[in-house]
Amino acid sequence: VTELPLDALETLKSIVGPSGVHDDGTLLEAACKDYFGRHTGTAGAIVFPDTLQAVVECIAACDAHGLDITPQGGKTGLVCGSIPSATGTGIILNLSRLNVIREIDPVNRSVVVDAGVTVAQLHDALQPHELIFPISIGSDGECQIGGVVSTNAGGHSVFRYGMTRHQVLGIEAVLPNATVISNLRALRKDNVGYDLSQLLCGAEGTLGIITGVALKVLPKPIQTSAAFLSLTSIDAVIQLYSKVSTTLSDFLTAFEILPDNGVQLIKRHVPDGVAPAVKQASWYILLEVNSASAAIDLGDILNAELASHFENGLILDAVVSQSESQRKQIWKCREALVFAQGRHGPVLSHDVSVRIPCIPALIDRGRAAILDIIQDVEIICFGHVGDGNLHFNVAHNGPYPAFSRDWQHRIERALYSVVQDLGGSISAEHGIGEKRRHVMSYSRSDCDIDAMRMIKHALDPNGHMNRGKIFGSRT
Ligand SMILES: Cc1cc2nc3c(=O)[nH]c(=O)nc-3n(C[C@H](O)[C@H](O)[C@H](O)COP(=O)(O)OP(=O)(O)OC[C@H]3O[C@@H](n4cnc5c(N)ncnc54)[C@H](O)[C@@H]3O)c2cc1C
Repeated sequence: VTELPLDALETLKSIVGPSGVHDDGTLLEAACKDYFGRHTGTAGAIVFPDTLQAVVECIAACDAHGLDITPQGGKTGLVCGSIPSATGTGIILNLSRLNVIREIDPVNRSVVVDAGVTVAQLHDALQPHELIFPISIGSDGECQIGGVVSTNAGGHSVFRYGMTRHQVLGIEAVLPNATVISNLRALRKDNVGYDLSQLLCGAEGTLGIITGVALKVLPKPIQTSAAFLSLTSIDAVIQLYSKVSTTLSDFLTAFEILPDNGVQLIKRHVPDGVAPAVKQASWYILLEVNSASAAIDLGDILNAELASHFENGLILDAVVSQSESQRKQIWKCREALVFAQGRHGPVLSHDVSVRIPCIPALIDRGRAAILDIIQDVEIICFGHVGDGNLHFNVAHNGPYPAFSRDWQHRIERALYSVVQDLGGSISAEHGIGEKRRHVMSYSRSDCDIDAMRMIKHALDPNGHMNRGKIFGSRT
């Protein structure tokens, strides 16, 4: 914790009230630690504005006192974007008190919400209207709309619905100079000049504070089925994807991959997340279909499709959910993998993407490159294979407390060189934050990064807004 100038503290208290500013104590300390408690930053205070006007005044006050601002939502981001840097001297601006669902328009199929509304809160509010917001991620209960928009989060259903930015119809935000840009009219077509809302999607809080968002929503599916499949090779996985993404295309919402070593870790560390009983194989696929139409029988369509792939030998074994609770149990296994790795020991996580036909090469070459450096590890590749996105994690088998920095960097360099060679991305959905800024050049040219810096400088010439995030050294 660093000390803020007394007059700055008093100004902030006069804006949000004394209960909206914490300049010491456990709340501030917790706000400076990342989700897994592995990284810690420093700040002089955490501030909780509860209106747009209060956000404007807080930013103007910080500007006047030369203070940096770290925008913070649910703090579930995985690249240290929402905690201040270790040498931070400014404030954390937390949006959780801005949490009103402003409007639900079932005919326009849109909502307007405050940035601090959690994703789970929005899902619940849409239930009575028979509508859904199609972004769903493992952190739904905590992550906020402002956070998922700022990270352009993905999740399980990108294959069908797109990333968060594809759901955004407009944004209200306070820029670093304390002016407000606002486009919450929820128009589907609006080509007037630059799209400022899209510029802020995925900007990780470096260009301003998002205070409100207009989002698309969709009719709630009335039929949903999940299947858990075992397959003997990664080539079979890609062949199956190629077939079902055509035949089930209008219905397919998820095509997730789990490796056998990951499923074995779940058995050991998360007993209630155990995978459905299918024959053991090297890879498992979690596939989900849904439909908002009652005119077809989705179960029949799915069963017929899977049967044809038993016959052609692509699928070794399968379980199809017969009820909502079975569907949830299948997903529980997928969610359990994240926690099983954490319980197993130190894990280095990487969030990469390539074009789908390149996935077998990514797995083979990535594994070989890592095993060249370190042998006593489990390489666990899982995730949203239908989007070309794999979480390429390296878990320690040895009795070591952690990976050394040297290993981390060597493993990163080895894997990201393969990703670069295959024309992929070193951050498919988690963003850059502070953790990945030194490796941006594996996926972006110097010209690209310079153009980003120019935009940042134009909107935030003093660099106060989320200092140290995205931009760093060019290694
Ligand atoms: C268990 C778990 C599962 C996850 N699964 C997925 C997944 O499947 N797909 C995926 O893409 N991600 C996933 N994530 C990470 C994902 O980035 C976050 O869960 C979510 O997008 C961040 O929302 P948040 O409100 O917690 O934002 P925070 O972590 O608080 O902030 C994230 C970034 O956004 C900025 N920010 C936050 N709010 C605002 C605002 N109002 N205005 C401007 N900037 C703001 C912050 O400064 C920071 O840079 C997962 C995380 C966890 C812990």
